Amino acid sequence: MEVGRDLVQVRPEGLYCVPGDFYIDPWRPVARAVITHAHADHARRGHGAYLAHGASAALLRARLGADIAVQAVRYGEVVDCQGVRVSLHPAGHVLGSAQIRLEHRGKVWVVSGDYKVEGDATCTPFEPVRCHTFITESTFGLPLYRWRRAADVLADIRAWWCGNAEAGRASVLYAYALGKAQRLLAGLAALGDGPGPIVVHGAVDAVNRAYLEAGVTLPPTRRLDGGVEPAALRRALVLAPPAAQGSRWLRRLGAYADAMVSGWMQLRGVRRRRGVDAGFVLSDHADWPGLLAAIAASGASDVRVTHGQVAPLVRYLSEQGLQAQALATRFDGEEGADAADSDVDVSVAVDAPAPPVGGDGA
Ligand SMILES: [Zn+2]
Ligand SMILES: [Zn+2]
Repeated sequence: MEVGRDLVQVRPEGLYCVPGDFYIDPWRPVARAVITHAHADHARRGHGAYLAHGASAALLRARLGADIAVQAVRYGEVVDCQGVRVSLHPAGHVLGSAQIRLEHRGKVWVVSGDYKVEGDATCTPFEPVRCHTFITESTFGLPLYRWRRAADVLADIRAWWCGNAEAGRASVLYAYALGKAQRLLAGLAALGDGPGPIVVHGAVDAVNRAYLEAGVTLPPTRRLDGGVEPAALRRALVLAPPAAQGSRWLRRLGAYADAMVSGWMQLRGVRRRRGVDAGFVLSDHADWPGLLAAIAASGASDVRVTHGQVAPLVRYLSEQGLQAQALATRFDGEEGADAADSDVDVSVAVDAPAPPVGGDGA
């Protein structure tokens, strides 16, 4: 396909919809931005106007300021942008996450944003959208990435928590504050009462409130500064963002075991370098079979691959007879300013094997 006829192009500011004159998840300030979800490497400061799903809009205001101009839409609602029909469809990644469907003169493009195909109780499940051209993420685009069922991983986490409680130490779980933490809370609650209270870091608590306001059911949690008595702390599960590892905040706990929850925990080297007692493989991105299933379900004959392990997926799709190519974007999760308070964990990202991969919400 000739570049000039592409509905979406890569420009220095980001992914640009030419006839609609707007950007999707731009990495530089622009006049009009359509946002797939509220993670830091997709939703940045400084745009003139934002368009996002209603639940994302609430998270964007919490992260970027109450004064940003956001047009909130529902899944499937069509907005006309200079003749381009724009609609958002569930991506199953985090609350409010969306694939962006663009229709113009009979051609349909879909920009996936980040997605996962396994359902969870904290966000609307991924829905395949038929299109001619599919721009897909590929954070975990290697055949070695095959996730176990989330329910099995959650059962392992609960058993680890119970073992620590019996030994008289707290259980600290490092997880991205937006999305992963809430998925863990809801998933563990579904297994029944644990051996002790659930304590959350302030960064997790702030996102929890947005989820609760959106109608997501989460179990009761407490704040560390809320006067949790030492005996209860020794049986507690503590949810904190990865940036809290080794921080003064954790010293208040006394004895604890810690674990990281991320797709990257599949890599033994990353687990070892993180210096945690345990690693649990649970990702908010599609694994290799999930990526292939989503691409097949889109019906697209033209696939553009970005955000992660691009080359292996492009090669594989080409071998299957699809028109596939790499798309150079900057969804690399290496924006330092937002890394500490949201989903991006730079140290994990740089620990991952070549080619360099993004670490957002993994
Ligand atoms: Zn991302
Ligand atoms: Zn994300």
